[in-house]
Amino acid sequence: MSASLEKGINALKEQVDSTVASFFSSCVHCGICSEACLFYTETGCPTSTPIHKAEPLRRIWKSEYTLLGRVGKMFGLTAKVDEEMLTKWETRVYDNCTLCGRCSMVCPMGIDIALLIRKTREGMAAAGHAPEDLIGATKRAVTIGSPMGVKLPALLAQIKHVEKDTGLKIPLDVEGAEYMLLLSSMEIMNFPEFIGAIAKIFTKAGVSWTISSEAFEATNSGIQIGVADIAAELVQRIVDAAEKLKVKTVISPECGHAYMAIRWEGPNLVGKPFSFKVRHILEILDEFRKDGRLKITGKETQRLTYHDPCQISRRGGVIEQPRKLIDMFSDNFVEMPDHGKMNWCCGAGGGVSSNERADEVRLKVFQRKKDQLDEIKPDAIVSACSNCRIHLEDGLEEYNMDIPLLSLTETLAEHLAE
Ligand code: SF4
Ligand code: SF4
Repeated sequence: MSASLEKGINALKEQVDSTVASFFSSCVHCGICSEACLFYTETGCPTSTPIHKAEPLRRIWKSEYTLLGRVGKMFGLTAKVDEEMLTKWETRVYDNCTLCGRCSMVCPMGIDIALLIRKTREGMAAAGHAPEDLIGATKRAVTIGSPMGVKLPALLAQIKHVEKDTGLKIPLDVEGAEYMLLLSSMEIMNFPEFIGAIAKIFTKAGVSWTISSEAFEATNSGIQIGVADIAAELVQRIVDAAEKLKVKTVISPECGHAYMAIRWEGPNLVGKPFSFKVRHILEILDEFRKDGRLKITGKETQRLTYHDPCQISRRGGVIEQPRKLIDMFSDNFVEMPDHGKMNWCCGAGGGVSSNERADEVRLKVFQRKKDQLDEIKPDAIVSACSNCRIHLEDGLEEYNMDIPLLSLTETLAEHLAE
């Protein structure tokens, strides 16, 4: 057995706990999870059945932790995890799953299949069976601080442009600020208007905020690739910066998985509760709304719909807030079918968008989003995840659909009363 395979198998063994064991032993092979996964519904490929994607982990559980499996192993009857298997599963686990969690919602046995797939990634990555692009992004996150290689000078340059455009000061490293804003590399490079929108809204709301020059990146590549140690290191950087600046709340930006990583996984990864709160930007904006801090002028008359980012809506429970906020500036809002916690993934989360090898399947499964949009024919789509936004734009172009994408935060800022 090669050293990398041994490492991978050991990593898979480490993932097996009572939760994993109870999930695998309760699967009744009903196949219901298939119909919830866009990689299955849009390709019809049986290897995209959600629970099947976690097969390497299931084999390790069975052969190492069940009596039948151990006896079978002695006689060479239990299916093994080997290089050939991991090679086959690499695309299933990384290219054909966005960790969107839709499958977990429908399983009659309550199995969190997305969790099992994420744990499977831990073994795949340790065995060297992760996509090259994700390995590169993770290395950049560790060494540079950003998966896209965005360094502080690039952020400072964008801040300078935003300050010029808005006439507002973007606060950097302000000790004692109430809020510390994180940003995804995509926002910094592709949507710097988001920073300007925050500046406008927070100035109007009369609250103090800051960006840390030492930890501004929200994206957690360690979670995406499945290396818990790296995920913990990236969370710790944010914890250190927040504690150094003594902020009360860290804000996760318009990014889906960043929210899941810092809010729901973060304390477990670093092994202790945070000394500050973590909120998604939509939660903060909704608090401002409730407190009467947001005065809005004018309404969008175009037909708007909302794409729920999986990690924010389904996994994070932030479903009502975006709708209440949209209601402030729109009187022509329409829900797409399966909206809210059962909305369909854009097809590019969980590291799929950083994995060029998955481009073809990513665009193929966009057919599901197209079908949703065809039913309601909106004039524009609002969302709150820059990764969804880029991929939705890509998908719409691929399918010749001329529908603009709007950031919820940016659109709200445009409607602020003077
Ligand atoms: S829906 Fe649940 S019980 Fe049915 S096959 Fe999928 S994981 Fe197993
Ligand atoms: S998490 Fe989402 S993409 Fe992955 S298997 Fe489940 S439904 Fe499919």
